[in-house]
Amino acid sequence: MPELPEVETIRRGLALRMTGRVIVRAELRRPDLRRPFPPMLADRLRGARIGALTRRGKYILIELDETGTLLLHLGMSGRITAAGPEIPEALHDHVVLTLDDGTMVRFNDPRRFGLVDYVERDAAAAHPLLAGMGPEPLEPGFNAAYLNRALAGKLTPIKSALLDQRIVAGLGNIYVCEALYRAGLSPRRLAGSVVGVRAARLVRAIRDVLDEAITAGGSSLRDYVQANGELGYFQHRWAVYGREGEPCPGCTCAEGVRRIVQAGRSTFFCAKRQR
Ligand SMILES: [Zn+2]
Repeated sequence: MPELPEVETIRRGLALRMTGRVIVRAELRRPDLRRPFPPMLADRLRGARIGALTRRGKYILIELDETGTLLLHLGMSGRITAAGPEIPEALHDHVVLTLDDGTMVRFNDPRRFGLVDYVERDAAAAHPLLAGMGPEPLEPGFNAAYLNRALAGKLTPIKSALLDQRIVAGLGNIYVCEALYRAGLSPRRLAGSVVGVRAARLVRAIRDVLDEAITAGGSSLRDYVQANGELGYFQHRWAVYGREGEPCPGCTCAEGVRRIVQAGRSTFFCAKRQR
C-alpha cells in the first residue's frame, strides 16, 4: 500500500500534469470502488478546471473549479498514471479523465480498495475520512511534546500506535518499521512508555525516513506506477522492511533482521538494537 512518501510523489507528478488544465472527458467504468462513487461525479468532473493538488495523510485532494474538491485514496493496489494517449488502456482502469492538452489520467485499482469522493471545498477538512486525522509528520505540530501527549497511557505496542492515523497521519507498515529501527525502539514496547528523549528520537526518525523516501522519489511496491505514466522503480532501499534474516545495517547482532506478526501484519526489526 502506498504510504505518505509514495502518495506525495504521486501528488507532485500529478500536479505537474494536471494543475491549470480542464477536464474535457470523464469516464467512470463502474459505479464504485471501496464505496459507491458520489452522485453526479462524472458531471462534476466534466468541464472542471483543476486547481492545486494537496495531500493529507495518504489522501490526495484535487481542487476543481472554485468550490469543489476531489478526494482520492489509492487503497491497497490503486495506482494513477498521467500520460498521453499512447499509453494503452489497462484492465482495471476504473476512472479515466481526459484533459484539454490530451493528457489521460487513469485510476487503476485491481482490488478496488481505493476511494474517489467529491466534497465542497469548505467541507473538505470535515470529511469523515479526514476529520479525525492526526498531525502531518513533516509539519511543525508533530513534535516530541505532541507525541508524549498522544501516546500517554496507551497500552498498545508502539508499532500499532504509529499505524493509527488518528495519532499521526500517513504512516503505514513500511515506514513504521523503518522509523522504529532508526529510533532504536522495540516495536513491542508499550506506546505509553515512549516519552521524553525516546519520543524526541522517534519524531526525528519518522521525519528522516519520510524525508529520505520523498527525496528518493518515493520508494515503491511491485505494482506501483509513477505519476508520469512510467513503470515503478526501486531505487530506495529499506533498512529492515522485507529483509528477514539479512544483516541489519550498522549493527553487529548475530541474528540479523527478525520478523514477527503484530495485529496481523509483519513487523521487521532488530532485537538487539531496538529496545
Ligand atoms: Zn541487528
